[in-house]
Amino acid sequence: MKILLAEDELRLADALVHILRRQGYQVDASADGLEAQEYAERGLYDVIILDRMLPHREGVEILKHIRQRGVRTPVIFLTAKDALTDRIEGLDAGADDYLVKPFSKDELLARVRALGRRSAHLLAGDRLAAARLELDVKNGEVSCPAGKVKLTVREARLLEFFLRNRGMVLGKEQIFDRVWGVDAEGEISCVELYVCYLRKKIDFAACGVELATVRGMGYRLQEVAGDD
Ligand code: CA
Repeated sequence: MKILLAEDELRLADALVHILRRQGYQVDASADGLEAQEYAERGLYDVIILDRMLPHREGVEILKHIRQRGVRTPVIFLTAKDALTDRIEGLDAGADDYLVKPFSKDELLARVRALGRRSAHLLAGDRLAAARLELDVKNGEVSCPAGKVKLTVREARLLEFFLRNRGMVLGKEQIFDRVWGVDAEGEISCVELYVCYLRKKIDFAACGVELATVRGMGYRLQEVAGDD
């Protein structure tokens, strides 16, 4: 499971990174609001731990921004004071949970596990759809008007990532990190190859979906304005 920690109190951040890594989580940490927002927007994470007060951009603003852009990653919002308005503001902006500082590490870990289960459940159980294309995430089977297509595990994970982030431009490096893994051996060109495989196997146009190449940036899967 991959976690983004946005926290500018460095001693706290260091301690949390240490604790989370010891649980076997992959952690990226940022102490800056704008940088954290950039990371969060990439859709790479299973859980985001977001401090309310950050330099250059506040947690609430980051939250609103990423939700507007369709990032549905579960967010735990950290607030410094136990003011009801702070919590309501965070939940209204799209947080899934909140913790009031100071909190115990056990409590944080319990919340992370709970939200992680939620995203794992989504990953395990969901059928994902865009227009007339549907992916059964469990068995890697695509349903489209022409019939069913069986994907390999890697192809299915790639299509799943596109479907979960439809409408967003996804960079090749970002796709590689998420689908193959940050530490994976292999080349970014794998991404191009697998996009080719998907385009060969699936008649996207017939499904009302476009898997577009965005020159110099990456790919974007989007629904095409229909004729029906
Ligand atoms: Ca702070």
